[in-house]
Amino acid sequence: MTELHVSAAPGTLYIVSAPSGAGKTSLVKALLDSTEQIRVSVSHTTRAMRPGEVDGVNYHFVAREDFLAMLEEDAFLEHAEVFGNLYGTSQRWVEQTLAAGLDLILEIDWQGAQQVRRLMPQAQSIFILPPTQEALRHRLNNRGQDSEAIIEQRMREAVSEMSHYVEYDYVVINDQFSHALEDLKAIFRARQLHQHVQQRRHAGLLEGLLR
Ligand code: 5GP
Repeated sequence: MTELHVSAAPGTLYIVSAPSGAGKTSLVKALLDSTEQIRVSVSHTTRAMRPGEVDGVNYHFVAREDFLAMLEEDAFLEHAEVFGNLYGTSQRWVEQTLAAGLDLILEIDWQGAQQVRRLMPQAQSIFILPPTQEALRHRLNNRGQDSEAIIEQRMREAVSEMSHYVEYDYVVINDQFSHALEDLKAIFRARQLHQHVQQRRHAGLLEGLLR
C-alpha cells in the first residue's frame, strides 16, 4: 500500500456495511439526495452487471485481469473478494474527494472496513442490520435478480457478515426505511458538529470570538 495523504484531509470518511438485502444502497441514496456535502465512492468490481445497473454509476465493471493489474499498481485503498468476485475502492478518488473538503461514503464489506480502519482510524463506520432474518430473505427474494441457490448462499453469507457489526462505531436497524434514514442522518449531523470539524468550518468565527 502506498503512502496515504488523507489523514489530515478536511472531509470525513464513512464506511457503511450491511448484509446483501438490508437496504444499504437505498438508504445511502436517500441520504445523498438530502445533502450536497456527501459523495459515495464508486467501486471497481469483477462481478457481472445486473439488469438496471450502469457502468461508472453503480460500479466500474472491469475484467479480472484489469482488476489484478490495478491491484499490482497499488490503485486500491482496500479490496476484497466477496461471493467469488473482486471489489476495490480507488485510493486516488478517496484522496481527492476528502482533500476537496467533501465527506465520502464507502459502501464496502467488513473485510474492506478492517483494512480502511487500519489505514485511517478516524474513519466513522456504520453497520446496517435488517430487523429479522425473515425480512432479509424476503428482501432478497423480492429483488428477483438472483437464483434460489444464490439467495441461499447469500443468506449464509449475510449471517457471517452480520457477526462483524461489533467492529463498527454505529448500528442502524432498517425496520422502517424512514426511521433508519433519520438515524443515518443523525449520525452524519452529529459528526458535522464534532469539535475538530467545527474548528475547521468556523475558523474565522472562532478566531473572532477568542480575540
Ligand atoms: P453487490 O455485488 O451485491 O453490489 O455487493 C456485494 C458486497 O460487496 C456488499 O457487501 C458490498 O458492500 C461489497 N462491496 C461493494 N464494493 C466494495 C468495495 O469496493 N470493497 C469491498 N471490500 N467490498 C465492496
